[in-house]
Amino acid sequence: MYDVIVIGGGPAGLSAALVFGRQRRRVLLVDGGSVRNEPADAMHMYLSRDGFPPARLLALGRDEIAAYPSVEIRPGVVVAARGASEDFTVELADGAVEKARRLVLATGQVDEPYADVPGLAERFGRSVFHCPFCHGWETSGQTLAVVTTVPQEAMLALYVADRFSDDVVLCTHGPREIPAEIAAKLTARGVEVRSAPITAVTGEAGALRLEFADGGTLDREAIYHRAPTRQHSGLAAQLGCEILDDGTVRVNELQETTVPGVAAAGDTAKLPAVPDAATLVSLGAADGVRAALWMEGDLFRADLAAAP
Ligand SMILES: Cc1cc2nc3c(=O)[nH]c(=O)nc-3n(C[C@H](O)[C@H](O)[C@H](O)COP(=O)(O)OP(=O)(O)OC[C@H]3O[C@@H](n4cnc5c(N)ncnc54)[C@H](O)[C@@H]3O)c2cc1C
Repeated sequence: MYDVIVIGGGPAGLSAALVFGRQRRRVLLVDGGSVRNEPADAMHMYLSRDGFPPARLLALGRDEIAAYPSVEIRPGVVVAARGASEDFTVELADGAVEKARRLVLATGQVDEPYADVPGLAERFGRSVFHCPFCHGWETSGQTLAVVTTVPQEAMLALYVADRFSDDVVLCTHGPREIPAEIAAKLTARGVEVRSAPITAVTGEAGALRLEFADGGTLDREAIYHRAPTRQHSGLAAQLGCEILDDGTVRVNELQETTVPGVAAAGDTAKLPAVPDAATLVSLGAADGVRAALWMEGDLFRADLAAAP
């Protein structure tokens, strides 16, 4: 019986494991090994590591955790989880079955770039960017396209036109009803709107080409595309945790889910009052620390209560 099984070894899960390791808790961290920003060469906005390769950050984290012998990091995928506080059972894809008193879910999200735009997914994270906070600075002064079928997300085109570039084209991949107020602002900002379906994205960073069904082409240095996302795992739902409308796991300020003994941290989790999941490496790491900190107190109180 482990004290805690942490599921997911991105910034959130590793941070939780580090806290537990330092408190000499017996922890198993199971990680499927495909973090959300894997395709990106560099991550930004992590103080002291701005521009650092994401994989190196995780490797450094795992090395640090290795100093704490009560933590085991195991590659693998958890396929099922059940039970209640003090007695959870998880099953791994390789058939292993493990038990723990508490669970931390840090399984993240998966981005799904439009499958009907050939070339978009292959470039996601390298020359097709989802977030102007993560990559905006690097695209300063570049010719940009914003690809979205969601009329409200025309706001992203306005945002990058305001912050980073005078040359932004909004590509809606088919005719869309853009709200009049946003359409007026696009015109005022000089953001062209192309509604023809995109048939291909070719080229590399700095020299991308969008091809359209009407025969037109558009050469751009970078593309923004806020891809639809889904949860990386369905374990929270399996355990009976409340899931919010956007698919994230409901947590409180202590990162506790609605199921006692189960915490959630990082991209997978959200406070209901927050309008949009703020999904960043630093915030995931902070969530992981917070989840472990409060869960450690909970374990200690349970230990005291059980002591003679
Ligand atoms: C292209 C791109 C670029 C980004 N750039 C930045 C940036 O510059 N700066 C920034 O702050 N943020 C950036 N982000 C956001 C950042 O990647 C996430 O906020 C961060 O990775 C969240 O950490 P996490 O630990 O919650 O999840 P993740 O890092 O996604 O880690 C989740 C882990 O859980 C594992 N897992 C999932 N299900 C299971 C299971 N059932 N069993 C076992 N393991 C499982 C996964 O394999 C993965 O290893 C970027 C995102 C994208 C898509």
